[in-house]
Parts: sequence; structure tokens; C-alpha cells
Amino acid sequence: MANLILVTGGTGFIGSHTVVELQQAGYDVIIVDNLSNSKIEVVDNIAKITGKRPEFENFDLSNRADVLNFFLRHKDIKAVIHFAAFKAVGESVNKPLEYYRNNVNSLMNILEAMKFTGVHNLVFSSSCTVYGQPEKLPVTEATPRLPAESPYGNTKAVNEDIIRDFCHANADINGIALRYFNPIGAHPSALIGESPVGVPNNLVPYITQTAAGLRKELSIFGNDYNTPDGTPIRDYINVVDLSKAHVVAIARLLNGKNKSNYEYFNIGTGKGLSVMELVNAFMKATGVNLPYKIVARRAGDIEQIYADTTLANNELGWKAEVPIEDTLASAWNWEKHVRGIK
Ligand code: UDP
Repeated sequence: MANLILVTGGTGFIGSHTVVELQQAGYDVIIVDNLSNSKIEVVDNIAKITGKRPEFENFDLSNRADVLNFFLRHKDIKAVIHFAAFKAVGESVNKPLEYYRNNVNSLMNILEAMKFTGVHNLVFSSSCTVYGQPEKLPVTEATPRLPAESPYGNTKAVNEDIIRDFCHANADINGIALRYFNPIGAHPSALIGESPVGVPNNLVPYITQTAAGLRKELSIFGNDYNTPDGTPIRDYINVVDLSKAHVVAIARLLNGKNKSNYEYFNIGTGKGLSVMELVNAFMKATGVNLPYKIVARRAGDIEQIYADTTLANNELGWKAEVPIEDTLASAWNWEKHVRGIK
């Protein structure tokens, strides 16, 4: 029988792509998601891609009794990938308690239930936000973490610490935190992708919605940064590549190849791209002319960050593969699919 993996947040953007990659690698998957920021149709679309419907349960992971009850009913779970979390940086500033209650309680409930029911392996979705604006680039895993800029960012740092401490106290629990850089793009089938609610905060959804005519123009938040073209630099990682990092992290844990029982890896391309370069790559990849204007900087934005991925390359045997133009074309194909554009 195939190993069963619990994917929390499995109908979300990165979660849904990871479910597909897990199934295609031969794992069975059970999703838990309360659909607070995703739709149940995602499960159908996953099944269309893989030919196999993942199991699905809808409940709130911040409810301790429900989490324990779930694990007691599913004694065959071999590992957990924990995506489910609130993720809007700006909203977290106004609703800190909601963010801490949801993101931190869910993790603690899961760890407690794992321990109680004998599930030993956890992969956690962390973020390069834990590095803030680093002094030296690219950032390695040895780069010091800096105080978080937002409650959202702080939930990532706090949750990493909780996993580290829990693994320290429990030699039979193994954790891997994956620190994502900027995940973008969509599955090449255009059946799953990113579906932001309302006006997108993130760059690529804003670009594709502008290209689709939903937004008048892209606002580029500042061109007076200390970078070659003045716009900020990020490391944009294809969501399918990113999902594959989870599959290799799971295999590492299930095969006992981890070097300590708490590890963390940068998951990016290793290449920094400016906003202007990304906009130009989008136009080149899609042939769509994208209207844009330069506006003031956005509060809280850092100037530049990109990953050193040597550790993930060497230890996980993973590296980003999809070229940026293909990634941007996949994001555009998904937007066209959602909007019914031919
Ligand atoms: N950005 C922009 N216009 C937008 C959204 C984002 O110029 O409408 C820029 C933003 O200033 C940052 C980059 O795009 O430099 C990536 O922003 P995003 O919110 O996607 O990710 P972040 O790295 O901030 O988490």
C-alpha cells in the first residue's frame, strides 16, 4: 500500500500543486482544509490532472479536539505537510490575534496529535520573510534571521522555533522547514493555480489580471532602490518546482536520510530578478503588452533578496528547473482559463 500523506491547506495555491506532485510520485493523499481561502472544486481539478481523487476533510485545524480526533481516525498517516495558514501580510497587521491564533495554534495542535498517535514526520511551509533584509546576498541557511516585519512573518518564525524545540524534546519527531522565496506560476494543465480574493497583493497575479483587462495598469512600487534598474529584486520560484521540493523532503524523512531531526532549507532559484525584468519577461513570454506606471514605494518592502540553494541542491537533490518565461506563460494560461479568455 502506498504511504499516506496528510496535506493541510491542500486546496490552496502551493498545497494543491503539492498534492498533484505527491500523487504522481505514488503517494496517497488526504487533504484537510476549511476552505477559508480556497474552493472545493480544486479537489475535482486535482483529480482531473492525476486521475485520482485525494481524500478530503473540511475542519478548522486551530480546533484542538478536532485535530486529535482526526489523527485518531487516520492511524495510517505517515507524514504531514502543513500549509494551512492565513497569509496576507497587510491583513495580519490589523488582525494579529487572528493570525497568531490560527497559524500558531494549528501547528501546535498538529504536533501534539502527531506525538499522541505516533506520526513522526512533518514538512512545514516557511518563508524567506524570516531573513528580513539580509546584509549579504544571496542568503544561505546560516544567514541570521531578523525580527519579522509583520505578524504574518512572525508566525513563520515562531512556528519554526516551535518545531525546532518540539523536535529537540522528542527524538522520534522529524521536522523539515522549507523557506520559500516568491512562489509564482501555475500547473501546466491550467487546471489549478493561484486564486487571490479581491485585488491581488502579489506581483504576478496583479500582472495577469492587468493583462486580462481586470485592472487598468500595474503599479510598480518604486524605482529608486539601490538595484541595477532601481526596482526591487526577488527570487521567483515556479510553484511546480517548489511542490517537488516537498516530495523530496517527504522521501528524505520516510527513508531516514535526514541528518538531524530538525532541518531547514532555502527553496528558490538562486537567481534574483527585478520587478522591471519580470514585467519584461512576462511581455516576452506571452506577447501581451502590459500597461504599467511607476508609483511610490510600498511600506515594508525590502530592497532585494535571493536564495543560495546549495544546501537544497546537495542534501535534497532538488533544484529549480522551469525557465521564468515558461513559468510566466503558465500563470497567464491559468488566468485565461479562469476568465474564459481564448
Ligand atoms: N510589486 C509591485 N506592484 C504590485 C505588487 C508587487 O511593484 O502590484 C513589487 C513589490 O514591491 C515587490 C515585488 O513586486 O518588490 C514582489 O512583491 P510580492 O507582493 O509579490 O511579494 P513580496 O516579496 O513582497 O512578498
